[in-house]
Amino acid sequence: MELTLTAAERLFQTEVRALLKAELTPEIIALENNTTTSLGNNEAAMAWQAILHKRGWAGVAWPSEFGGPGWTSNQRYIFNTECEKFGAPSLIPLGLKMLAPVIFKYGTKAQQDYYLPKMLSADHYWCQGYSEPGSGSDLASLKTRAERDGDHYVVNGTKMWTTHAQYATHIFCLVRTNSQVKPQAGISFLLIDMATPGVTFKPIYTLAGDHEVNQVFFDNVQVPVANLIGPENEGWNVAKYLLEFERGGSAVATGLRVEMATLELLLRDLPGEHGLKKRAAETDIELLAMAQMETTLQAKVAAGKNPGAASSLMKIKASALKQAISALKMQAIANYSLPHNNRLMLADLPTVGRPSDQTITAGYLNERASSIFGGAREVQKNIIAKSVLGL
Ligand SMILES: Cc1cc2nc3c(=O)[nH]c(=O)nc-3n(C[C@H](O)[C@H](O)[C@H](O)COP(=O)(O)OP(=O)(O)OC[C@H]3O[C@@H](n4cnc5c(N)ncnc54)[C@H](O)[C@@H]3O)c2cc1C
Repeated sequence: MELTLTAAERLFQTEVRALLKAELTPEIIALENNTTTSLGNNEAAMAWQAILHKRGWAGVAWPSEFGGPGWTSNQRYIFNTECEKFGAPSLIPLGLKMLAPVIFKYGTKAQQDYYLPKMLSADHYWCQGYSEPGSGSDLASLKTRAERDGDHYVVNGTKMWTTHAQYATHIFCLVRTNSQVKPQAGISFLLIDMATPGVTFKPIYTLAGDHEVNQVFFDNVQVPVANLIGPENEGWNVAKYLLEFERGGSAVATGLRVEMATLELLLRDLPGEHGLKKRAAETDIELLAMAQMETTLQAKVAAGKNPGAASSLMKIKASALKQAISALKMQAIANYSLPHNNRLMLADLPTVGRPSDQTITAGYLNERASSIFGGAREVQKNIIAKSVLGL
């Protein structure tokens, strides 16, 4: 099932394809293809963002008043679908997709004027400081403290699993500004420059040997009160608002279709039948059903309706399918999967098998995280149980 496009939308699709053909270089595609981490390759994403920024398209979901293209949700969907088909890197979402809408709604004029242009140009690179050791699904229990001292807050504590903190110039954080009230009522949303004295981080290496996540530490870090987003102690509402912007315009099914096509190529070359082709066909059928669900959801969002718990369903389904495809790919390369394990740590050693297969094991291992980050699978199921089943 395809989304029915108007004549103007078809014209827009042609324009997007023309840009991709002209500007997306084989080097950028190769960098991205050789990456197995959740957010993709930082260098490829930055190169692609620079190209889009020149065209005024870096803020894919941004309204024109803030420097975005002001696209409809269908235009975003078309843009994202074509980018997936051409193998373009995903832009790093932490600033552009997650923090930006928060600044549109809760930022002061001065904050909007200062931060938004630097986000589009990638002069600022953001990371997200929500989770802490012991506070993930139960985020409201977070302990990082920000105590007011004149026109500054003094921040102490630690953030966990911070994706790309090693590249970030800034971090948006949830901090505790009142511990005398119920947990949600004492949280504030604070922007912190990573270069401020007292901010440090250490890498956490994944099973695949990649450095994507970190632990960040704050030791008496002085943060201007002017960096607060929204009123003090109302950070929980700001944090919840950020989540709404995950909705609409994404083209997850197309990305999975591309993954499925590489699996089909691997299986085509595989001698004999090991039950893998049958399982791949079953996965493909589930993918078709998911693509149909995504199109229906997209039509709903385009008509201004709230997708509700369908977003949770899509998150569960997409992560399950990604994991299933990555598992089948690893089974398809069979014995080669072991020497390819920890490929980054062993990068200088000669390896075996086809170069194109060498990201498969790391991809499989990193893919385990997709049912944890952005709201764990069980937590999404709780949302569905409450809002759909009324449990
Ligand atoms: C690769 C990766 C990147 C990440 N990047 C970031 C980042 O940039 N910034 C950031 O702030 N965080 C980040 N996170 C953290 C992520 O948001 C948390 O890992 C996630 O919210 C789960 O929290 P937790 O790890 O504390 O696990 P827990 O919340 O302790 O969950 C452990 C298990 O218990 C289950 N569980 C928890 N509560 C319930 C419940 N009420 N009912 C049923 N089951 C439950 C969970 O589903 C899970 O299976 C990242 C995580 C990963 C893996």
